[in-house]
Amino acid sequence: MKYYSLNNKSIVVDFKTATINGQAPDKGLYFPERIPQLNKQWFVDIENKSNEQIAFDVIQPYIGNCIPDNLLFEIVSETVNFPIPLQPITSSISSLELFHGPTLAFKDVGARFMSRCLGYFSKEKEQELLILVATSGDTGAAVANGFYNVPGVKVLILFPSGKVSSVQEKQLTTLGNNIHALEVEGSFDDCQALVKQAFFDKELNKKVFLTSANSINVARWLPQQFYYFFAYKQLAEKNNPPIIAVPSGNFGNICAGILAQQSGLPIQHFIAACNANDTVPEFLQTHQYTPKSTVATISNAMDVSDPSNFVRIQEIFQQNVDAIKSNMSSCSISDVATKATIKSVYQEHNYLLDPHGAVGYLALENYLKEHPQQKGIFLETAHPIKFYNVIEPIIQQTLSIQDSIKATINKPSLSKKIQPTYNNLLECIEGLM
Ligand SMILES: *Cc1c(COP(=O)(O)O)cnc(C)c1O
Repeated sequence: MKYYSLNNKSIVVDFKTATINGQAPDKGLYFPERIPQLNKQWFVDIENKSNEQIAFDVIQPYIGNCIPDNLLFEIVSETVNFPIPLQPITSSISSLELFHGPTLAFKDVGARFMSRCLGYFSKEKEQELLILVATSGDTGAAVANGFYNVPGVKVLILFPSGKVSSVQEKQLTTLGNNIHALEVEGSFDDCQALVKQAFFDKELNKKVFLTSANSINVARWLPQQFYYFFAYKQLAEKNNPPIIAVPSGNFGNICAGILAQQSGLPIQHFIAACNANDTVPEFLQTHQYTPKSTVATISNAMDVSDPSNFVRIQEIFQQNVDAIKSNMSSCSISDVATKATIKSVYQEHNYLLDPHGAVGYLALENYLKEHPQQKGIFLETAHPIKFYNVIEPIIQQTLSIQDSIKATINKPSLSKKIQPTYNNLLECIEGLM
C-alpha cells in the first residue's frame, strides 16, 4: 500500500515512511491510495474470528511488507488486549465501551499500535527517536503509556499547566524512565506552537530524530477502525445495519469508522457528535467551512474548531458535500444538554456517561426520534472517572476510584515546569540527548 499527500497526489510513500514522517513534507495528510475490500464471506464468519484476527485482517493490506506478518499479528494482539464490549442501554441504543484500556480512553488503541510500529522501525535506525507531543489530556496519557519502556524511543510531552484533569496529569507525569513531561505555564495552543517550532527547526532536526505522535499519523488513525468491526461482531441483529454516533473533535475516530464502512462493514449512517465547536455541523448545513475560535467545554478533548482529519472525510467522498451528508450527519450539543443527559441516563438506565460519550448519546437519541425503525451505537470514548470533577456535581454522588487509577493518582509527578519559550524547550530536548 502506498500513501499520497492530500496536497499533492504525486508524492507517494510506504507505511513506514508515512509513520515516521507523520505528515508529508508539503504538510499534507497522508491518505491510502486505495481502500481495501473485505468480502461478504469474511463478514458472515466474523463471530468465529478472534479480535486479534479481525484486527490483523483489517490492517494487513495497509501495512504491506513494511512489517512481517508474524510481528504484525503480535502488534495487533497487544493493541487490542483489553475488552471492548457493546453494552445495551435502551432497546435501541448501545454503548461501545472504548475505555477499558490502560489510560481509560479510546486513544489507547491508536497509541499502542503506533508505538509498537515505531519501536520496530526505530530498530533499523542508528539514532534514537524522540517523540514530541502537545496534549490537552488524553493524547499525552495514551502516548505516554503506549511508548513506556519501548527501546530506542524517548517521549517528551508538553501539557498546559492546570488545564488537564488531575487524573490525566498523573497519567502523563508519573511513569518516568523514557517518558518525560513538561508542564508549560500557558495554554494548549502555546504547547502546540512550541512543538511545531521544534519540527521546523532545521538545526535541531539534524541532531535529533524527531517524530510527532498526533492523531493525523496514519499509524494512530488506521487502527481505530478495529473496534467498529468488534461492534458489528457483537451485534445481535446483523441484518439491520446500525447508526453510529461518534463524539468528535479532530474527526480521526469517525473518519476511521467511515473507512471501515468503505471496506464493506455494514453501517447505515454516521453521526458526528460535536460540542459547542460546531464548524462541521455548520459546514454540512451551509456548505461554508469557517472555523471560529475554539470554545472551552466540559467535553474538553473535543474542543477543536478546525478538525485536522476532516480533509480525509472529504477525500473519501471526493469533495462531494451531498455524498458526505447522505452518509454522515453532524450536530452540536451544548454543555447544558450534555449535563442533563448524564443525569437522566444515570437516573433512568443506571448507566454513567462521561461528558464525551454523553454528547454522542444525545446526538444519537435525537436522530433515532426521527428514524424510529433504526438502532444505534454510540462510542463511549472515555471512562467517567477521568472527569469525576465534572460528573460528581451532576449526579451528586462521589465516584469510587478503581485500583488501577488509585495507584497512578498516588504516584509523585515527575514533570518539569517551564515558561512557554522555545529556548526552554530546546534546553530540555538537549538535556535528554
Ligand atoms: C480525543 C477524544 C475525542 C475526539 O476524538 P477525535 O478522533 O479527535 O474526533 C473524543 N472523546 C475523547 C474522550 C477523546 O479523548
